[in-house]
Amino acid sequence: QATDWRPFVDSAPVLERPLAAKAGLGWVGKHSLVLNESAGSFFFLGELLINLPLPLDAPVEKEQCGKCVACINICPTGAIVAPYVVDGRRCISYLTIENDGPIPEEFRPLMGNRIYGCDDCQLICPWNRYADVSPEPDFSPRPNLHRPPLLDLWRWQESDFLKHTEGSPIRRIGYQRWRRNLAVALGNGPANPEVMAALQQALETASPMVAEHIEWALATLTSRQQGENKKTKLLIRCIEKGLSDHA
Ligand code: SF4
Ligand code: SF4
Repeated sequence: QATDWRPFVDSAPVLERPLAAKAGLGWVGKHSLVLNESAGSFFFLGELLINLPLPLDAPVEKEQCGKCVACINICPTGAIVAPYVVDGRRCISYLTIENDGPIPEEFRPLMGNRIYGCDDCQLICPWNRYADVSPEPDFSPRPNLHRPPLLDLWRWQESDFLKHTEGSPIRRIGYQRWRRNLAVALGNGPANPEVMAALQQALETASPMVAEHIEWALATLTSRQQGENKKTKLLIRCIEKGLSDHA
């Protein structure tokens, strides 16, 4: 029989994590990702399905999360609903990348400025103290995508989006999801008149889905602005009262 094989790296619906745990690469942590003692969780899993009888590896003897629940506590949307169980519908990675429809309103304020995925549960994980930065240049931050102001990204036309995300996985979400995510992030930021004007201006040409997120962002910013104005007025009144009491 001829040898046949097919390799995968996050490229087909293969349930990689239980296979990796069975193959002894690590244990499944409470955030549901595979953890390795020396590499933490910041690595890709790759598989080679092959019709050769290979020797079996032993699974890792025990999981080593112990009493830690840091990932459960840090998750902004409460997506880790129980140890080892992530409700994908609540996960910001799903909501900003895979989900092609509207983002449920209850999660929008919790997303902060995350416009493509979320790694909070991995960043907090003590096992990632041992993770090395990859020397592979493709994993390094790109200057045009490294901490850019959200408003600069908002001003990208579709052609800019395609140019700047060439060769990056960000490109696969497409311009509409990108705009949707940015609208939410801008709505979670400061109620800055420049931001509000840019959002308002984009309403005219936005698709119905993006327009609905822009409207949400504008309403959120307006109510934050009104709240801030009220607080400032109250503060001024308190200062004036304090001054007159001491006069
Ligand atoms: S990626 Fe973010 S939202 Fe998803 S489970 Fe982890 S911390 Fe929660
Ligand atoms: S943060 Fe703690 S509980 Fe979560 S996966 Fe890491 S070690 Fe396990």
